[in-house]
Amino acid sequence: MALTGIEIYKQLPKTNCKDCGFPTCLAFAMKMATKQVSLDKCPHVTEAAKAALESASRPPIQLVVIGTGEAEIKIGNETQLYRHEEKFHRPTAVAIRVSDTLDESALAARAEAIGKLAFERVGVKIGVNFVAVDNASGDAGRFQQAAKVAAAKSGLACVLMSSKADNLQKAAAAISGQRPLLYISDPAQAEAAARVAKDENCPLAIRGDGLESLAELTGKINARGVEQIVLDPGTRRLKDTLEAMTKIRRLSLKNFRPLGYPLIAFTTAADPTMQAVEASIYVAKYAGVVVTDASEKWQLLPVLTTRQDIYTDPQKPVAVEPKLYAVGEVGPKSPLLVTTNFSLSYYSVEGEVESSRVPAYILSVDTEGTSVLTAWASDKFNAETITKAMKKAEVETKVAHRTLVIPGFVAVLSAGIEDESGWSVQIGPKEASGLPGYLKKQWKA
Ligand code: SF4
Repeated sequence: MALTGIEIYKQLPKTNCKDCGFPTCLAFAMKMATKQVSLDKCPHVTEAAKAALESASRPPIQLVVIGTGEAEIKIGNETQLYRHEEKFHRPTAVAIRVSDTLDESALAARAEAIGKLAFERVGVKIGVNFVAVDNASGDAGRFQQAAKVAAAKSGLACVLMSSKADNLQKAAAAISGQRPLLYISDPAQAEAAARVAKDENCPLAIRGDGLESLAELTGKINARGVEQIVLDPGTRRLKDTLEAMTKIRRLSLKNFRPLGYPLIAFTTAADPTMQAVEASIYVAKYAGVVVTDASEKWQLLPVLTTRQDIYTDPQKPVAVEPKLYAVGEVGPKSPLLVTTNFSLSYYSVEGEVESSRVPAYILSVDTEGTSVLTAWASDKFNAETITKAMKKAEVETKVAHRTLVIPGFVAVLSAGIEDESGWSVQIGPKEASGLPGYLKKQWKA
């Protein structure tokens, strides 16, 4: 838990000397509690106080870095149990499993396909992060070769998974410098795997048989000089894993250091739909990495969408720039549609216009990122704001027909817009999904 201003104040000199730029030590402490100023701005703090404050202000969940360069992903460093309390910071990394029992060409093809699993949603590219190489063969040579091929063909960072520390060592050495996450599934091999992680400068994921055994293991791993640890509570049933991960998150946020590490979860369902459901649940609660066999686009899109939704800032709606957008080869006869600058609203309209193949202008009005009905209810999407946006975008220089299409849900605005702007208004469909039919069959200037 973050320190309160009063807790910080107790450690300060309390002389109110103002050398930090604040009028009092208490004012400085309050700013520090909200992370607006750092401790080094006070030149008079004692070494003992510094040590106490630094250790207490360490993030309750260790930051773990996996991969390098463009493939690098950071997990952990979370500070909240509930997203609405602030936000979740580091999106869950999604890893697709490949087995080293595949022959080399099949493995290469699968790794290549995994590397391409990406989508664009509300203007943001979302995709898979890791390829997880499973040493299912138990053979060191096969594992080593599979790691090499998977890393090269996917272009992603790797999770290397084995029950044997020696095999992990060989596979890690084969992709040395790429900082894979090493996962050791046998708790008895965890300390040996820690030596490998230390030698190869890699983070280490360990499996425990319950929370107590995990807490004990992290102490032993730390003692071997490995700080970057990821925890697998060892459960495999959805209910048990969810329960264990929630307990670990709660304990770590209470500064229980032995469990203050990000988590790894594995989907185990045989049913493809349930694999996607399981992965989505672990994304929500509270995995840093989810390893899954789900590799079809229809399975991954809901998982990645869940991740995108959960890791946005709940206090900042995802918005697009409010302006006039042209979709397709527009001309003076093209329809002019209006919507808000809420990302989901804008991209829903844009997607349907694209699929209609009728080139059109879309005017996105600044409603502080709120949707059509919310903005209308809060008076941010009204005749005045729409007319103002039309003028700012100089729509009269783009189209010759002086007709605006408004969403069907706010048909009530039509008369006001006509009065305010002098343009005629057509009522479009209520839902964006109705746009292709409307543009092809009903629209006329
Ligand atoms: Fe207090 Fe340190 Fe600021 Fe002086 S510099 S007012 S001692 S916090």
